[in-house]
Amino acid sequence: MQSAWDKALVVIQTLHDAGHLAYVAGGAVRDRLLGIRSHDVDVATDADTDRVQQLFKNTVAVGRAFGVVLVKGDGPPVEVATFRLDGPYSDGRRPDWVRPATPEEDAARRDFTINGLFYDPQTDRVLDWVGGEQDLRAGVIRCIGDPAARFSEDYLRLFRAVRFAARFDFDIETATWKALTSAAPQAHRLAAERVRDELTRIITGPHAGRGLQLLADGGLLMDWLSELAAMRGVEQPPQYHPEGDVFTHTRLALDALEKPSAPLAWATLLHDVGKPPTARWRGGRMTFWGHADKGVELAGVICRRLKLSNADTEHVLEMIGHHMRFLDYPKMSVSTRRRFLALPRFVEHLALHRADCLASNGNLTTYELAQTDLESGQDDLPAPLLTGDDLIRAGYTPDPRFGAILKAVYDRQLEGELTERDQALAFVRENWEPESPQED
Ligand code: ATP
Ligand code: MG
Repeated sequence: MQSAWDKALVVIQTLHDAGHLAYVAGGAVRDRLLGIRSHDVDVATDADTDRVQQLFKNTVAVGRAFGVVLVKGDGPPVEVATFRLDGPYSDGRRPDWVRPATPEEDAARRDFTINGLFYDPQTDRVLDWVGGEQDLRAGVIRCIGDPAARFSEDYLRLFRAVRFAARFDFDIETATWKALTSAAPQAHRLAAERVRDELTRIITGPHAGRGLQLLADGGLLMDWLSELAAMRGVEQPPQYHPEGDVFTHTRLALDALEKPSAPLAWATLLHDVGKPPTARWRGGRMTFWGHADKGVELAGVICRRLKLSNADTEHVLEMIGHHMRFLDYPKMSVSTRRRFLALPRFVEHLALHRADCLASNGNLTTYELAQTDLESGQDDLPAPLLTGDDLIRAGYTPDPRFGAILKAVYDRQLEGELTERDQALAFVRENWEPESPQED
């Protein structure tokens, strides 16, 4: 299939042949200069929405108010936007109006210099009105124009600055950083969904731990994730946690993930969120009894605040709720272990455990043990040798003992002690009397 870049070039050629200016715009130009493949390649043009829709057969006007059209057809869809200038942002989210503009004005309305570049395929040149190329080379995130004004137009840019700094491991330029920290208390004005999406991209991306550090240092955790800010300075016993406080541990755990799913990244971010409220000195050291359960409670509140989907929330809470069970793993009976391995999406529980270890003592013994158990199919639970119907047929009357009997049989089946139905029935007869038949 055609790459997003090639598809964009075809779209640009069509616009050019029809007498229009058209360039690759924004993130895709940045990524290309960095040698990274972009998943979406946007085009900016002087053609208006109607004209774009005339020139291409298969289009959807996704943001008519902003002059944005999606050109579909072969290959990935390309977003085509008319060069525009944004009016004032009275709500701190969206411009009050937009109007058609020159490419230079369109560059100036974008957030950071590295995102304000265009590429002209006709001349094979990068068009840079904002100093973006130099900042890309130097590894700097810098607002275009006055940083305080740019952040107050759209507070999401606070999170975007952190996201790009983390993803590319860039520095945030001093004036931009100062404006970011001053504007951070306004972050509560943002819609939860927008914050959630930015945070998810930060914690699932490269250098996620640094992203978390920047969020904390910039004051961006206060409104949306104050429970994480509370982890700073919460000391842990050095024999288990040589890395330091709970916040540092969490930061390192994020860094230990490898291309995580969103729920895994959220679970890692929040796995020890129950530690600050459960921290107690006991017997000369800090303990966190019950922190997994407390963590489930707090993470539930956070997931709802940030409007994660119900399915993701459930998955996140499952991972947090079970994360301490790995401590017992080597001592678990085979049946308990196999049931644990058979949890839905166990590999993600295990990935959280791995990150948890790598972020503390580095001991992966349990991780490897569970990995071996998975490889030998221990998570594949067999159908039970006996059901309630089998017990009834064997002369047992359904009663509250049934659950216990069937569990005992299934435990032994999982342990490998019982392998045949008859053997299982014999085991039941040895251990449980059928109820005496009713006298008449
Ligand atoms: P990604 O690789 O994550 O998609 P991107 O830079 O392409 O990064 P998008 O959110 O896809 O980011 O936006 C495309 C371009 O639109 C950006 O490069 C930037 O020029 C501009 N842009 C996006 N969001 C904003 C914003 N909130 N404020 C100003 N400009 C923005
Ligand atoms: Mg993009």
